[in-house]
Amino acid sequence: MEDVATPEGFRRDPELVISFYNKLRRNLPNAQPNPAHRALARLETVLGNRLCLVTQNVDDLHERAGSTRVVHMHGELRKLRCRRDPAHVVPFDGDQTEDTSCPLCGAPMRPHIVWFGEMPLRMDEIEAALSDCTHFAYIGTSSQVYPAAGFRHTAKARGAKVLCINLEVEPDPGTDLFLRGAAGTEVPLWVEGFSRTDATREGPRSVRLWLLEPDGGPVDRN
Ligand SMILES: [Zn+2]
Repeated sequence: MEDVATPEGFRRDPELVISFYNKLRRNLPNAQPNPAHRALARLETVLGNRLCLVTQNVDDLHERAGSTRVVHMHGELRKLRCRRDPAHVVPFDGDQTEDTSCPLCGAPMRPHIVWFGEMPLRMDEIEAALSDCTHFAYIGTSSQVYPAAGFRHTAKARGAKVLCINLEVEPDPGTDLFLRGAAGTEVPLWVEGFSRTDATREGPRSVRLWLLEPDGGPVDRN
């Protein structure tokens, strides 16, 4: 993993790293969104921009299920980033080569993936949503990897209700609701119930629902 998931590895052997992510990108169509992805997309149609869906995965399963505003804190396989200006992030399908250049400035590109030792993306947005949310759910994540592992504590400290859906781990003492089971089973049930509650209505206190879903995906970061 060190060779393909660190800035040093990329400097050492860009070709190896580029071909590794090309292969993952080519494999994306082999995975299909599950009922949990689809349920979260339905929840977006209920909550609109009051839903902040954060994922540590770099695949496109949420998007293919219909979600349109996913925060990919570890980046996305279907985007490349400029090596001169990190703000130049562009959609990309197909195979990258060392000659693939930034359409905005012509500089060389890199996979839009957060490697070990790099800061997760969009943390300001994430912190703002965490301090503002009324509900925080962490779904299927082992929650061992910081900073994501600390999100539920921040949300709880700011008064959010904390929900945990997980098959394996025990919830923290601060968890308000724990549903033991697979995400594909529990998330659709919960979304259906939650969508009928008052919590989804616009009110004086705006609802920001916060969700985090499984670690892993094409690049297992653990
Ligand atoms: Zn550029």
